[in-house]
Amino acid sequence: MNFDLSEREKMIQSAAREFAAKEVLPRAAEIDRTAEFPLELVRRMAGMGYFGLAYPAEYGGSGSGYLAYALVIEQLARASMTAGAIVAVSVLSPEALLRFGSQAQKNRFLAPLVAGRKLGCFCFTEPGTGSDPKAIVTRARRTGRHYVIGGEKKFISLARVAGQALVFARDDTDRVSAFIVPAKSPGFEAGEPSDTIGLRGFGACAVHLDDVRVPAGNLLGEKGRGFDIMLEAISVERVGVAAQATGVAQGALDLSVEYSKGRVAYGKPISGMPTIQWLLAEMASRVEAGRWLTYRTAFLRDQGRGIRNESAVAKLFCSQMAVEVTRMAMQVHGAYGTMKSLPVERLYRDAKMTEVYVGVSEIQRAIIASDLIR
Ligand SMILES: Cc1cc2nc3c(=O)[nH]c(=O)nc-3n(C[C@H](O)[C@H](O)[C@H](O)COP(=O)(O)OP(=O)(O)OC[C@H]3O[C@@H](n4cnc5c(N)ncnc54)[C@H](O)[C@@H]3O)c2cc1C
Repeated sequence: MNFDLSEREKMIQSAAREFAAKEVLPRAAEIDRTAEFPLELVRRMAGMGYFGLAYPAEYGGSGSGYLAYALVIEQLARASMTAGAIVAVSVLSPEALLRFGSQAQKNRFLAPLVAGRKLGCFCFTEPGTGSDPKAIVTRARRTGRHYVIGGEKKFISLARVAGQALVFARDDTDRVSAFIVPAKSPGFEAGEPSDTIGLRGFGACAVHLDDVRVPAGNLLGEKGRGFDIMLEAISVERVGVAAQATGVAQGALDLSVEYSKGRVAYGKPISGMPTIQWLLAEMASRVEAGRWLTYRTAFLRDQGRGIRNESAVAKLFCSQMAVEVTRMAMQVHGAYGTMKSLPVERLYRDAKMTEVYVGVSEIQRAIIASDLIR
């Protein structure tokens, strides 16, 4: 076993740390306060190649791998979880296209996403379909050489800024299929962004599909394989969420160490108190455990292994870890931790989001348990 990052991964990690400090951190509070989607920052992240880390050079990616993807997201989320989440969620459509697309579909639809020229959105969830994917009711009717898609999607990340959508709908055989839908198609309409406690500026919103026509050739993969496509893609995004959780928790630890050295009580910095040291040590050990779980899961993906179970373990552990660690960080900061003027309360709100999106913790436990008792 070798737990060292390669020289290339170390360079990517260090460049991302620098980018996050210079370009992301100064904008983090404003993104949270205004909840506006950070389009300019997305352009800069695209310029750094962050949307193509895991994808081959033939489609414009850098082929750096999934561990590089996790390393970058961790550093971005340390500064702003919204920035990390934008890169993390942007893996969904490329992953689906790369694994299930025809050569023609890859040539046409994958490259703009990998280059970050277009953002993709992944339209699965519906008002009545959160944890229960079988409850999907959006329909895709075949009419000659087209499919006509009608339905309502909910909480769709990046939908308002996406150039391209992957829409899951029941086809004429009543099975779920996936369709590539240009976002400018008539009838495709993204609603107002959801007003969430954390991950603000991420812009998840409803999508109305009012008889959206797409050529039959926009069916992704085989007809009826929508669930397989969805499961494959979200197992990779879960690594991204684990990396976000690790980053936000590390950010909270950094702030806590700094704060405890500067805050004086009883005439001494609180960092000298055993209770504060206990909190800092607990935080550091939990972050470290989450980090290596995340890296290992990404590493397995780089080896070409399936990670449906492993990514559920990583997402479950890291999201709970982030909630606990940011809660401890609030405690280190005392009353000041509850103030909007300090960043730690934002991290606490952001961390909570990792327990619910890309599958709630209960669903991750169900995946893990079913594997254990199979
Ligand atoms: C910021 C954000 C971005 C998102 N982005 C996307 C996106 O890009 N694309 C997309 O398709 N979706 C997206 N989603 C949707 C997200 O994946 C779902 O909201 C999530 O899966 C939970 O679904 P739900 O809210 O309907 O919860 P529900 O299914 O209503 O569950 C509510 C609660 O019931 C319990 N529960 C439910 N099922 C079970 C079970 N089987 N066993 C035990 N307990 C259970 C759990 O306690 C759970 O927390 C996003 C959501 C958010 C908040």
